[in-house]
Amino acid sequence: MLPGIHASVNGGLVSALSTLHELGLVSGQIFTSNQKQWKGRPVTQEEEKEFGEDGTLTIISHASYLINLSSIKSRVPWLSAKALGEELIRMHRLGIHWLVMHPGAHLNAGEDQAIEKIAAGVRKILTIAPEDTAILFENTAGQGTTLGYSFEQLDKLLKLTDMPDRTGICFDTCHAFAAGYDLSSNDAVLRTIQKFDEVVGLERIKVFHINDSKKELGSRLDRHARIGEGFIGLEPLQFLASMEVFNNIPGITETPGSDFDRANDAFAVMKS
Ligand SMILES: [Zn+2]
Ligand SMILES: [Zn+2]
Repeated sequence: MLPGIHASVNGGLVSALSTLHELGLVSGQIFTSNQKQWKGRPVTQEEEKEFGEDGTLTIISHASYLINLSSIKSRVPWLSAKALGEELIRMHRLGIHWLVMHPGAHLNAGEDQAIEKIAAGVRKILTIAPEDTAILFENTAGQGTTLGYSFEQLDKLLKLTDMPDRTGICFDTCHAFAAGYDLSSNDAVLRTIQKFDEVVGLERIKVFHINDSKKELGSRLDRHARIGEGFIGLEPLQFLASMEVFNNIPGITETPGSDFDRANDAFAVMKS
């Protein structure tokens, strides 16, 4: 895996880019706009230039937490589609290919129907979005009514979206563990990865989120722990990161603390 962190953008996007370089990372994830606001932030010329000239880092964008294409609240699906469309245009300007997105929450309207809505929405958005952008569905812990906690649901989302070149999966280790997929030993990692391969296919994983879990297996709670301080542990994560099939896949830590802490976590798991 390619060591990376979720980099804070408190100092702006360009400063996040230099942080990644200073920490010696080869990949990174950012929010291109405030993740808790509907109103998007336009990309500046300086940002476009700095990102465009950077030839070494693999940067991934993470979508706003507000986005839910399957929401039953009247304006939310529309606001979500608009925000996603704007995000993909920002990414195009910054030269970012992959957008990581949490599939959504059905809010008790039924899982199957919600998955169909999400897939149809993503398909529509990608059809009109810049062609160099693509969307990754992230597996979730299954907290509340969130979707994407099972490999079967992820497979369904990909199949219904039916744009194999523009979609894929971001696999979060903390979320998978919380959703009941054991990763707390090397054997458990093998079994879980094999299961994912059978249901979805390993080639669909384009990004990993490498996080330990503060909560037990199957807790359905999304609480990231520092690497080695949770119920998964350092060794199985190192084992996962060393699998040859994931050699060129970014492994992004989203653990608590500072960018520096997250870089330490990334280097504990992955070789630079
Ligand atoms: Zn994640
Ligand atoms: Zn999480």
